[in-house]
Amino acid sequence: MDPRTAVILMTLNLAVTSALVAMIARRTQGQQPLLFCALSIGLFAGAFVLRLTLGMASAHPVVLLADGVMVLAAGLFLHGQRRYLLQADSPIVPWLALAAVFVMVQVPLTLWMGQQARHVLLNATLGSQYLGMAGLAWLGSRQLPAAERAAQRLMLGVGGVLGTATVLRATDAALRGVDTLFTGPTAQAYYALSSICILLMGPSVLWWMFVRLNSQLQQLAIHDPLTGALNRNGLQQAVRRHFAVRTPRPLVWLMADIDHFKAVNDRHGHAVGDRLLKAVAQVLMAQVRGADFVARLGGEEFLVAASELTPEQAATLAERLRAEVAALQLPLADGTVLRCTLSLGVSTPFLQAEAWEARLHEADDALYRAKAAGRNRVELGAAAAAA
Ligand code: GH3
Ligand code: MG
Ligand code: MG
Repeated sequence: MDPRTAVILMTLNLAVTSALVAMIARRTQGQQPLLFCALSIGLFAGAFVLRLTLGMASAHPVVLLADGVMVLAAGLFLHGQRRYLLQADSPIVPWLALAAVFVMVQVPLTLWMGQQARHVLLNATLGSQYLGMAGLAWLGSRQLPAAERAAQRLMLGVGGVLGTATVLRATDAALRGVDTLFTGPTAQAYYALSSICILLMGPSVLWWMFVRLNSQLQQLAIHDPLTGALNRNGLQQAVRRHFAVRTPRPLVWLMADIDHFKAVNDRHGHAVGDRLLKAVAQVLMAQVRGADFVARLGGEEFLVAASELTPEQAATLAERLRAEVAALQLPLADGTVLRCTLSLGVSTPFLQAEAWEARLHEADDALYRAKAAGRNRVELGAAAAAA
């Protein structure tokens, strides 16, 4: 493919991808950092149009503008990528500064040393930026949840190949001059390779969006939005997963219910009731181990599933949860603090998923007895108490 045709196709691809990414990013929560990527892709398209208009190998002073725009565009992409993948509040200034420094070096360098120096600097800078994109994707693929990793690996490959080829192009320009950049087999190979990379860049960004939105949806489907604890759906999934291993560890239910919660709502309003629910859920989630889970069954009722505990250890854990909730102090707007207590019922440990309903009844009965016996206490299930 001759370089001009390749660049025309890349430009069209970039323009469409930029519009698509911008439209999706603007309308979807949490995808805004990708607006920088959309802007970047659009600016690349603009720079290519400029180069096509002036001629691919043109030495017209305006091509310096196209060069500056490309370095700025790559910087904006890196910025969006970093914000999206790693750090939501990372600053844009370094990327703008990089583009400004590039222009300040590029213009005098071109005037003083000519087109060869210009192409060497441009390709070395862009190549490093593409390698930077690969580097961020690599960091992303290490730090993000498994579901998002594959999408980052594609970007890692695209950025790595494009970056390496562009740095080699800088070396080629330094050793053999400008002509080899636009004519001959090396130029054709570079443009064929870069068109493929750019063709993959757009779908790669769209793939990031897709997997992230998908995992956000999955999280929403299994969590209670108010407290962040699992909902019934999430509880079922977690229990199924717990018992799906070859040698499952025993699980014990701790059924917990806030005492006189209705009175909190009546006295302080629903908003304060909600804050208390969140605070209690946080206490419960902070107290259990990583493999344990906390679900909100509805209202002010929580279910803790703790693994690998003897009945005595389960009773100790329940007592600790009771004491931690009793020690909780929620500051109110009027300067006072709100306290609450928790009643808990503990089941016998069980080893099979099929036993979970029966053990749930056991924990529920125990909770009922804890309420009847005056609240703010722990009762063991009948089987657990007999053990
Ligand atoms: P007990 O000690 O016997 O458990 O009494 P209680 O008042 O805690 O229990 P009851 O079942 O009588 O009241 C539960 C209240 O929880 C009633 C309901 O309005 C309130 N509630 C349920 N879900 C929510 C919620 O999401 N937010 C708030 N603020 N209140 C809720
Ligand atoms: Mg209650
Ligand atoms: Mg209740």
